[in-house]
Order: sequence, then C-alpha cells, then structure tokens
Amino acid sequence: MSESYYKGYWMLTNRCNLRCSYCVLENAPHQLKAELDLDAKKEMISHLYHNLGFRRLTLSGGEVIIIGRKPPKDFIEILRHIRTFRSDDSSKNLEIELYTNGTLLDEAVADEMEGVVDMVAVTIDGAQDSFLTQIGRNNQKFGHYFDRIVKTCKLLTKKGIKLKLHSVISQKNHLFLANEIRDILNAIQNAGGNISKWKFYQYMSYDSPERDQAHAIPTRDYERFKEKAAQQLSSTGVTLHFKDNQEMNASLFNILSYGNAQYMRTGDTWSTSKRTEDLRSYGSMSELFARHDIDENRFRHFHEITQ
Ligand code: SF4
Repeated sequence: MSESYYKGYWMLTNRCNLRCSYCVLENAPHQLKAELDLDAKKEMISHLYHNLGFRRLTLSGGEVIIIGRKPPKDFIEILRHIRTFRSDDSSKNLEIELYTNGTLLDEAVADEMEGVVDMVAVTIDGAQDSFLTQIGRNNQKFGHYFDRIVKTCKLLTKKGIKLKLHSVISQKNHLFLANEIRDILNAIQNAGGNISKWKFYQYMSYDSPERDQAHAIPTRDYERFKEKAAQQLSSTGVTLHFKDNQEMNASLFNILSYGNAQYMRTGDTWSTSKRTEDLRSYGSMSELFARHDIDENRFRHFHEITQ
C-alpha cells in the first residue's frame, strides 16, 4: 500500500500586532507562555514530516512573523529549518503556505521566504480606511492597512512567491465588498502584485454572543455575496474559493500553538470541539486516528494530498 501524505494548518502563535474585532485569538500571557518554544516548533515540523506524513503546512497565527522574543529572528530560524526539507526533488518537499496580516513583512523577511514559502495569503476585508479602522485592521502604529497590503503584495511578487487574498464575509461588509473587489485587485495589480487565488470565508461563530452579534451573517446573505463576487471576478483568471460554515466546521483540524490539535465531530460547535495531545506524542497518523474520535474519512477528504 502506498504511503498517505497530508496537509495541515498550524496556528504557530496567538500573538498578534493587530486587534481585529472578529478575531477569536487572545494574547493572554498564560497562552503565550504555553506556546511551543523555538526548538519545540522545529521538532514539531520534523515530526510532522517524518512520522506523520505531512508534506504541506499552512503556517498561521496570530501573526507568524512575530513569534519569539526578538521578531523576526525566530520566524527566520523556522524558515531556515524548513529549508532543510526542500531540494531540487520537489516531490519530497515540505510545501509551505503562510497566512499573515502582512504589516511586518519587509524585504529582509521576504528574502528568507524565497525558495521556502510557496504561497502567501494576506487578508483584506474591504478597501476603505474607515471600515478597516472599525474592524481593527488599522491602528495607530499600523495605519492604512490597505496601502500596506498593496506594498506587501508587490514585494512578494518580486520575490516570485505566489499570492492569495483572504476575505472574511460578515454582516459588516457583505453589502459593499463585492463592489470593491475589482478595485482591490486593480490596485494590487497596478502596483505589480500578482494575485492567483482569492478565498472568501463566511464569518464563523466562536460561540461568543457579543462577537457573533456584531459579525454573524446568515447563509442566504453569504450566498448573495458569493454570487456577486463570482460575477465581479469572473474574467480575471483568479481562482476563487468560497468557504461556508459547513465546510469550515467539517474541515477543522487546527494545530494549535501549544502543539495539540483542535478538531470537530459532526454536530460540534467551537466550544464543544475536541483536542488531541501534543502531536509529537503520536508515532503515526494511524495512532492518532485510533486514540481519538476523529472521523478518518472526513479527515482524509479534506487533508490528504491526492495529486
Ligand atoms: S490579524 Fe489575524 S490574528 Fe491578528 S487580530 Fe486580526 S484576525 Fe486575529
């Protein structure tokens, strides 16, 4: 029987330099203290590759670039460690996708990403400064988020790294974002950025009444947005993915900053979702499936690499 290979999503840190109003992550000191340290993070990467068969990792946060005490030192060390899993034989490579808010991504960091990171996804939920301020994407130090994203996209395209945009669709932007997306794309393209994919997420409930009240969007409104957005981007060559709540819950397998993974069973919500042990404690994926009530078929559907 041939070996199975997997892709995974790892939230390396809860720390972030922004405070988006829909974000579920907290920067509490006890959480940051429990985060895997640099050596443990490197060990985890090796373990995921050699023992659990992961060949594709999405590194996310918080904001991945500010892990450790003296950012971006630790992040760069992680990239150098991942480089050891890359060679001319691309079939053996550990592929990396990076989710970042892009505000701290400078030339020096981008240089280290070249040849290690295959794709970077940056989030843009709207183009207007007033809206971005309202949802926490702008703040005193990191103002004018949209302008920064345009610059970041230009820089990454210059380094030959593929680019993807992410947008969270909530009750705050579903009525106007579809009318802004061509302008967003044009602004990035005119600056020299080359977007190949755009993923739209239906705001997901974290069982927090206050946050849900401000952001939750009924599926019918999300579907209406989806139709308009698909029309706007129809002849652009950008690959679209609309991820609704159902797909988000079914595919959820988040490796957390502490080294364990969060998963959902059918009918679970964010608060009833389950946790594995530290993934370094499992010798194989079979052991992981045997020790937890993870739906193996569903996991394989979303996380097995088939091509
Ligand atoms: S940039 Fe991402 S991690 Fe940071 S506060 Fe916003 S949503 Fe949360």
